[in-house]
Amino acid sequence: MQSTDQNISLLSEIEELRQQLEEANDTINAIRSGQVDALVIKDDEGHQLYTLKTADQTYRVFIEKMSEGAVTVSREGIILYCNTRFAEMISVPLEKTMGLELLSFVPEESKEKLTQVLESSWKEDCREEIILKDNRGKDMHCLFSCNNIELDTGPALSLIITDLTILKNTEHQLKQRNDELEEARAATEKLNDSLESTVKERTHDLLISREHFKVLTNNITQMTWTNLPDGSVNSYNQQWYKYTGTNFETAGDFGWKAVIHPDDLAAVLARFDFSLQTGVPYEHENRYRRHDGVYRWHLNRANPLRNDEGEIIYWVGTATDIDDQKQEMERKDEFIGIASHELKTPLTSLKGYLQLISGYKKDELPAIVKNHLSKATVAVNKLQTLVSDLLDVSKIKAGKLEYAKTSVSINNMVAQCVENAKHIYSTYDFQTEISEDYIIQGNQERLEQVLMNLLNNAVKYSHVNKHITVNTSRHQGMVRVSVKDKGIGLSADQKDRIFERFYRVEDKKNMTSGLGMGLYISKEIISNHGGIISVESEPNQGATFYFELPIVSVPKQ
Ligand code: ADP
Repeated sequence: MQSTDQNISLLSEIEELRQQLEEANDTINAIRSGQVDALVIKDDEGHQLYTLKTADQTYRVFIEKMSEGAVTVSREGIILYCNTRFAEMISVPLEKTMGLELLSFVPEESKEKLTQVLESSWKEDCREEIILKDNRGKDMHCLFSCNNIELDTGPALSLIITDLTILKNTEHQLKQRNDELEEARAATEKLNDSLESTVKERTHDLLISREHFKVLTNNITQMTWTNLPDGSVNSYNQQWYKYTGTNFETAGDFGWKAVIHPDDLAAVLARFDFSLQTGVPYEHENRYRRHDGVYRWHLNRANPLRNDEGEIIYWVGTATDIDDQKQEMERKDEFIGIASHELKTPLTSLKGYLQLISGYKKDELPAIVKNHLSKATVAVNKLQTLVSDLLDVSKIKAGKLEYAKTSVSINNMVAQCVENAKHIYSTYDFQTEISEDYIIQGNQERLEQVLMNLLNNAVKYSHVNKHITVNTSRHQGMVRVSVKDKGIGLSADQKDRIFERFYRVEDKKNMTSGLGMGLYISKEIISNHGGIISVESEPNQGATFYFELPIVSVPKQ
């Protein structure tokens, strides 16, 4: 019975205490938030009224709203008071913070440091970075600012605890960025160094190659120069100055025009302009005035130098003195002209006498003499063709090849030549592929000379496969006559040169006779008729030579 009474009185005491605690908590919250200005406290002497000063009230609100944790601890390190922020930092409900030991909210390894800090803070204010550990064991980097304060109840420590997590993270990120920056800077520096050494090497190489070029150009016998893309000259070698007797002041830019022979200048400018516009390498012969006023022939060549983008940055030109060769050629031409002329008359009489002998008492002549006479006639005819070719060449050189032009039927001309060839070369198979007839204006004899030359060559340069085809066709306003053989053919560089005077492909195997005049004369004749002559061929694949002439009309059927 006694214990039941005791229990009842204990329960009512607990209930009273609980109510008092609730009231106290409400009061504290009201004080914290500044809702109350005065407190009525019940003690042994009855109820007492405590008014809170305005300043206190301001500070309370201020502390409560702070983003830092604020804690007051006793000398024993017990939390007497803290703000909401600190309660959050240690993850403990605000009402349960009072009476807890501050040391229990730092990790083991920081406990000694905090003890020392608290200890020394009683003597003087201090600040230190310490790790705070919340109720769940999570660490937080904090700055502890400790101040010694005097409360009504005695001295206490006031701590302002700043969460440094963001700061530390930012610091960490900053450090990372700094490290990256430092790495990038080091890499750039390395790149810079290597670039610098490459530039040095290149500059050195450039210097050497420039000096090479200079030494080389000054040592060769030819004159050399470099042009900018517009054709103006920006450098000459020593030979140029020595030969022309000029200097850069007068010959630089376009000053070179002054030393070109006035009769050659227009052609030089036209040809050079063509190269500048198209990028096609320049090759042309002209005369340059020497320092003593004498003009000498030179062969000029200029090639473009391009940058990585393919744009022309320079032209490098050379001029080779060919005056002696030219004079030599002229002397040779003169000799050929005189010799062929001198040979022509006795040859004509020789041929005449041979005809007379062949006709004299024809039936009484023994077979052996007849045979010798026919061989002599063939040989004299061959000689006559050669002499006549030689005469043509010298006439071409002198501009004296004559062309009396009339209307010429292409089909007619082709038929006659093929007939002729069949007669001479009976072992060869001649085929014709003839289109409709076309009329051109020309010299039939000369044009037959061209076609016969192509047919003779087709025979001469195809010993194995003896099929030769003559074809006529229309190409725009031109009629094309082509002669196709299946012989030894020609390489690309041979094709470029066979129309030159006296050019022959060296052919040790076949040892064909000839002087390299036929195609040269043919080209001259066709050009005179406003036409073109060319060849399509591959080595060992045969050749198709053709010429084209402007059509005047198509005869009515
Ligand atoms: P040539 O009297 O030497 O035949 P051409 O001027 O007629 O003189 O020809 C020049 C050169 O062109 C010849 O030496 C030969 O090498 C080459 N040529 C001409 N026609 C042919 C052909 N049908 N096939 C291969 N090569 C040829």
